[in-house]
Parts: sequence; C-alpha cells; structure tokens
Amino acid sequence: MSHMRVDHDLCTLCGECVAACPFDGVTMESGVIEFTDSCRLCRLCIKACPTGAIWLDKSEKGPVLDRSKYKDVLVFAEQRQGHIQPVTYELIGKGLELAKALGEQVTVFLAGYDLGAQGKELLNYGVSHVYLYDHAELEHFRIEPYTALMVELVNEIRPNIILMGATPVGRSLAPRVAARLRTGLTADCTSLSVKNNGDLVQTRPAFGGNVMAQIITPRHRPQMATVRYKVMPAANRVAEPQGQVTYPAIDEGLLRSGIKVMGFRPHQVTSSITDAEIVVAAGRGIGRPEGLELLGKLAGQLGGALGVTRPLVEQGWADYTQQIGMSGRTIRPRLYIGCGISGAIQHVAGMRSADVIFAINSDPKASIFDVAHYGLVGDMYEIVPLLIEALQKGESPNAVFQAG
Ligand SMILES: Cc1cc2nc3c(=O)[nH]c(=O)nc-3n(C[C@H](O)[C@H](O)[C@H](O)COP(=O)(O)OP(=O)(O)OC[C@H]3O[C@@H](n4cnc5c(N)ncnc54)[C@H](O)[C@@H]3O)c2cc1C
Repeated sequence: MSHMRVDHDLCTLCGECVAACPFDGVTMESGVIEFTDSCRLCRLCIKACPTGAIWLDKSEKGPVLDRSKYKDVLVFAEQRQGHIQPVTYELIGKGLELAKALGEQVTVFLAGYDLGAQGKELLNYGVSHVYLYDHAELEHFRIEPYTALMVELVNEIRPNIILMGATPVGRSLAPRVAARLRTGLTADCTSLSVKNNGDLVQTRPAFGGNVMAQIITPRHRPQMATVRYKVMPAANRVAEPQGQVTYPAIDEGLLRSGIKVMGFRPHQVTSSITDAEIVVAAGRGIGRPEGLELLGKLAGQLGGALGVTRPLVEQGWADYTQQIGMSGRTIRPRLYIGCGISGAIQHVAGMRSADVIFAINSDPKASIFDVAHYGLVGDMYEIVPLLIEALQKGESPNAVFQAG
C-alpha cells in the first residue's frame, strides 16, 4: 500500500499542492498538509511542490491474501413478491461455469417470507446449497436487514466470489455489502472468467464504452461483481438435484430498519424490450417521429416490442425504458431488427447477444453490418412497408429480401 508523505521541515505551507490536486485529496487545515481519502496517488502535488517536501511512500506492504480460506461462488437470489427474478438463473449459470473452472460449488443467498418452495426450486438448477432467510420482516427488500444478513453469511461461509444482478436491488445492496466486507466490486460486468490462481477477471465497458476494462481483485476476498439481466445465458435445470436448503437462525437485531413498507403497488409494465423475443429497433435514421409508428407497426405484426437508440430518447421521441445499449437496457431476443441504426459500440453493447441480428441501413459501410447476420442496404421507408405488407399477406419476408 502506497501513501503520500510530507516532510514538514521542508514544507513552507505555500498551498501549491492543494491547488494542484484535482480530487480534493490534499488539505491544509490547522497549518498542516494532510492527504484525504480522495487522494488518488496521482503525484500532481509532488510536481507542484516547490521545495520537494512531498513524496510517495511505497514501503508499506499490503495485506497478504490467503486464497485457500475462501471457496465457492455465492449468488444473491433476488425475489420480488415471492417470485425469483430471472437474472438469478443467469447468475447461477455463470456461477456454475466459474465454480467448475475452480473446482468449487455454487451456493445461494435467498431472503424473503414464506419462500420454502422457491428455495427448493433453486436446487433444480445445480446449486449445492441455498441459505434461506425466511422471516416476515424480510418480505420486502429493505437495505439494512438484507445487508446485515448477507454480510453475516459471507463472514461465516467465506465465499471466493459473490454475484448479484445489476438491478435496482442489486445495485443498492452490492456496494453496501462490499464496503462492509472491505472488498472490491465491479458493476455491470459483461463477461466473467477465472485465472488459474482463482482471481476473477471482471470485464466491463469503460470510457464511454470505447475500452473493455479487465478488473481483478488480487488482494481482497470475496470478489464481487454485478451483472445485468440478459447478459449471461440462464442455467438449465438438472436431472438430479443434489443440494440442500438451510434455514440459518436469524438474529432479530439484524432485522432493524429505518424503512417501513406501507404497501406495494406493482409497476404496470406494457411491452418490455428486455423480455421480448423479437425487438424492432429504431435509430436516428428514421429522421422523423412518424418512423416510430411505422416500426411500431412492424413490431406489432411480429408480436415483438419496439426499442430505440439513445438519440431518440434524447429527442423526446421515445421513453428511456425503450433505449437499448450501454446506458439503456440489455436485450437478448431471438430476433433483433435494427432500422436506421449506425451500430455505435454503446448501442451494440446492449443487443449483440441477440440470436439473429437483421439490419436495414442506407449506408453500406455502417458498422451495424459488422455485427448483423443479415442486412439490407436501402431506405427503411421503402423496405419496412414491404415487410409489413408481406407479413399481412402471410407471405415470407424472404420475398422482400430477394427483391432487395
Ligand atoms: C457514455 C455513452 C453512453 C451511450 N449509451 C448509449 C446507449 O445505451 N444506447 C445507444 O443507442 N446509444 C448510446 N450512446 C450513443 C451512441 O454513441 C450513438 O451516438 C448512438 O447509438 C447513435 O444512434 P443511431 O445509430 O440511432 O444514430 P446515427 O449514428 O446517427 O446513425 C443513423 C444511421 O441511420 C442511417 N440512415 C439514415 N437514413 C436512413 C434511412 N432512411 N433508412 C435506413 N438507414 C438510414 C445512417 O446511414 C446511419 O448509419 C451512448 C454514448 C455515450 C457517449
């Protein structure tokens, strides 16, 4: 562990280091230069100091990690109104793959009320253990008890890896658990693998999606990652489940919360692009809002949902819940039809896992064609009405492709 140090005999309290720090990492209170938690060890203060009073001390060794004390992959099973959320099965699928590579097993943390059947059901997906915290106080997600119980379990079973969904619940719970455990957390991973030494390689987009960063947590355990829904394939049911459900004793003190749930009103979801088997997506190439009506019609014909790229949301033509991509939703439909979409990396990050990608674009060099399985070069205002007509007549859209 490195630290910034100050030689107070050389320091003239000129304040150059405070002014040079872009992170508010240096303060000069009570006549002493001090470094705060915001210091990033960027060394700008060293360069700015006219008397050479500041230096980076690398002499302190960090804690030595005993990897052998940690094993297994712990999955946070998210439930809402007693229903296990589908991201859970995707985390179990990835967890089983990682556990196999490490020669370990997958265990599950599940909290809620009257969830015996759901706990047993999870065993059908190949997990070795479900720790079920069943209590009326846990029926709805409340951050304090969920954090306290999860931290208690982790301290007891010492998992090597913890996986959570990058859902509103997971995004709230994961950082709190990570902070209590004093370990690292990588959010919104798009890929996970393990090195021979057990380090989890957590890949996620960085710098606006232009770089895929690979992050490891070599000095701390557990290694924690969140993964968005629809990024990983779900686990399959196993023929002969071997695991068991354990009901750990619940310390009532850990259930204390400042949040009182007054009631629950489910959010009315119309057609969700995340769950749709077929998604028709509109890009800036539609040029005018009427293009959305046309593509909505195509989506309706196919029994699918209508998605968009970010510029259409920014223009106020579509709702954020329809945005596909890095800062929108990740989708994994059987069929994706992109119309007037260039194929920017931030959009592709949210749809590249579709089974079949079909693109319509007037520019033959558009990068959407690099990821598309099928493509038509042309004006979507000419092609899409032909597709709709063919579908209305019950004809195969192939006729349109051949004409194109
Ligand atoms: C941090 C960050 C996060 C981002 N997150 C997202 C995100 O989550 N989702 C997202 O979508 N974007 C995101 N973006 C924006 C992204 O970089 C692109 O700007 C955006 O995806 C481009 O949208 P588009 O393809 O609709 O538009 P354009 O890039 O303008 O492409 C329009 C395409 O339409 C074609 N076209 C024009 N007329 C026609 C026609 N009549 N028929 C057929 N084709 C036609 C053109 O040839 C062109 O290829 C993000 C950007 C940043 C910096």
